[in-house]
Amino acid sequence: MSLSGKTAIVTGSTSGIGRGIAVSLAEAGARIVLNGRAARDENYEIAERIRKDTGAEVDFVAADMADPEACRGLIEDAGGCDILVNNAGVQHVAGIPDFPVEKWDQIIAVNLSSAFHTTAAALPVMRERGWGRVINIASAHGLTASPFKSAYVAAKHGLVGLTKVTALETAEEPITCNAICPGYVMTPLVEKQIPDTMEKYGMGREEVIREVILERQPSKQMATVEQMGGTTVFLCSPSAEQITGTTISVDGGWTAL
Ligand code: NAD
Repeated sequence: MSLSGKTAIVTGSTSGIGRGIAVSLAEAGARIVLNGRAARDENYEIAERIRKDTGAEVDFVAADMADPEACRGLIEDAGGCDILVNNAGVQHVAGIPDFPVEKWDQIIAVNLSSAFHTTAAALPVMRERGWGRVINIASAHGLTASPFKSAYVAAKHGLVGLTKVTALETAEEPITCNAICPGYVMTPLVEKQIPDTMEKYGMGREEVIREVILERQPSKQMATVEQMGGTTVFLCSPSAEQITGTTISVDGGWTAL
């Protein structure tokens, strides 16, 4: 399948899952718009590397996904939008009474509200171009909960709700909206949680990975960024034309428990 002629915007795509998805979409022939918070040299270098590796056209647009106007500006500045992957996300782990208010606000802004703003700006562009795919990177935490992750779980459940509404508002058009719900994928976001979790449970690194992080992932294996990319490309394929308003879990059986 070729996505040649399509422009794909992937938010928060200079590392981890977003970068993996951008590479898969580039390999499928799409023009890629990478996004990160700041116009740093290293972000343009990542775009250049993907361009060299895949032969796709790859641009980088700086926009802070915590800022509503910047979210809408990203879509305007991208030069087209056929595929929108709302991937940017942040995490903070603390009990509810101790959860810093600014962390709550940041997580809701980046993990949930940004998808509302980008989708609001992208749908008119997709309607004009006559085709569109909105893919929201939610989480197993969009379907189930864990203690100490109140803002993240609330934001991801909200993102699954936004996915359904977007699908219903576009149901009679050649536009679909779905959420991918990964279990654990080894990326910087997961890596950052390991020291806190080691401290909280008084465990070593390997024990934390197997017994705590992968405790709810029956496969006992992390999913990969390539699997997230492959699932995204599938959702852009003709086989997925009637898949809309749903969640696809890529979680090693987590949500089957
Ligand atoms: P990551 O930290 O590697 O990637 C997150 C990306 O979001 C980074 O590129 C970061 O720069 C970007 N970002 C953060 N704040 C931003 C902002 N204000 N503006 C623009 N970009 C911003 O983490 P990841 O694991 O690749 O996470 C990607 C998505 O996948 C997130 O939404 C996360 O919640 C979700 N997810 C991850 C896992 C996992 O196990 N890694 C599991 C389920 C869901």
